Amino acid sequence: MAKANMSLTRNAMPVQDAKVRAHNFDEVALGYTEEQAIDEANRCLNCKNMPCVDGCPVKIHIPEFISKIKEGDFEGAYQIITKSSSLPAVCGRVCPQETQCESKCVRGIKGESVGIGRLERFVADWHNTFCTEEPVKPTSNGHRVAIVGSGPSGLTCA
Ligand code: SF4
Repeated sequence: MAKANMSLTRNAMPVQDAKVRAHNFDEVALGYTEEQAIDEANRCLNCKNMPCVDGCPVKIHIPEFISKIKEGDFEGAYQIITKSSSLPAVCGRVCPQETQCESKCVRGIKGESVGIGRLERFVADWHNTFCTEEPVKPTSNGHRVAIVGSGPSGLTCA
């Protein structure tokens, strides 16, 4: 197993150069590379009491998915996240992690918390880029329901 990364600062998010992004409508943040994701995952101490999970509204198994990233098993990490959340690419971008999971991370006591949101985003983007397996369509049970609203909860229910 790789040595824990005891850096007090998290891996910076790569971003488009200002001169380049002034001429396009693409996302400014580019996302972690595999090497950056593994390096950031190695900052996680795999705490037994999992305070970060307490801060997550949908209770994603955070240390478990981060451990898979440490091993380079990015699809395994995706499978763990999607047990609790259907929209990791969205939540990895727009969840206020700084007031939720990351606010409880013990690495944040003396330095910056683990970049949990950035790691979630990395895993989702990796899956969307490299996974070729079609999702299994659930069999209809004949019931029909209406979903009001199209936020994360509405989309997950749908
Ligand atoms: S609190 Fe931070 S260091 Fe501890 S398991 Fe959660 S993410 Fe890892």
